[in-house]
Amino acid sequence: MNTILEVKDLSVEYRTDLETVHAVNGISFSLHRGQTLGLVGETGAGKTTTALSILRLLPKPTGVVTAGEILLEGVNLLDLSDAQMKALLGEKMSMIFQDPMSALNPIMKVGEQIAETLILHGAPHQTKKQVEQRVEETLELVGIPAFRKNEYPHQFSGGMKQRVVIAIALACQPHLLIADEPTTALDVTIQAQVLAMMSELRNKLDMSMIMITHDLGIVAQVCDDVAVMYAGEIVEYATTEQIFSPGAHHPYTTGLFGSIPDLKGGTKRLTPIEGLMPDPTELPSGCKFHPRCPHKMAQCETVPPPTVAFENHLISCHLYTGQAEGGLK
Ligand code: SF4
Repeated sequence: MNTILEVKDLSVEYRTDLETVHAVNGISFSLHRGQTLGLVGETGAGKTTTALSILRLLPKPTGVVTAGEILLEGVNLLDLSDAQMKALLGEKMSMIFQDPMSALNPIMKVGEQIAETLILHGAPHQTKKQVEQRVEETLELVGIPAFRKNEYPHQFSGGMKQRVVIAIALACQPHLLIADEPTTALDVTIQAQVLAMMSELRNKLDMSMIMITHDLGIVAQVCDDVAVMYAGEIVEYATTEQIFSPGAHHPYTTGLFGSIPDLKGGTKRLTPIEGLMPDPTELPSGCKFHPRCPHKMAQCETVPPPTVAFENHLISCHLYTGQAEGGLK
């Protein structure tokens, strides 16, 4: 299968005079053409920082990639100049941010906002008429009638605004689309429509997607593979089917599932994960999940767990290294 993106041993810090935030700590994953990878975890897990690193949009000068490689179609993005990177954005990669209300310019017509992206990144040499036609086609692609190009963002509902944001991101037909909690600000019914549309567009345009979310329901709906993140690390990496199947899982993944209500009328009680994500300026030694882990062993406090293949997927946990076999129930 054609690999479009490879992230290798990526580490990212935010540095100020007072402290260093260890936001991403040596993560690796890859993404194939036409597939969707879910980055899952609580707030502060490092998901958005990972996305901003790929797009080279980390805040300057505080955000620093301290190690690793980000290969897009074989090219290490970290080696590119700002000008080379700007040329890639929009055309090869783009991002949808969480809040459609703040992503749009309230005083520009939506058609003009799509045209601006096209002129900047995708079609600098096209005539005004050609750009106009691409704007209309892009709006129709996301289910908005072309005549609405002359309307302003306030004339659209929340779901329709997010469609406009998606249209802007797709205007240049990127190879990779990164969506950061794209439906969090929407009503549940609208969420389902937007997610279904994104999956359809991914297939239609043969794009790859990274879906950042804390919602396992969204993962089930749109992702092929899942990387579960905790304290800047990937603690479990598997296909969506494996993550949702019983068997061996990282205790954090098990905790995430224990925090979901049983909507089938069962009597299962919620078992939230005790405690909070650790302070990224002072990460725990050993396994970073050990202060919250119900399966903690002595070595967990001092020895970082290696990532091992177990039941056909990757887990970083001492329960699965060496003689520890069998998985959690
Ligand atoms: Fe829990 Fe230890 Fe596994 Fe960490 S390595 S998740 S503390 S059992």
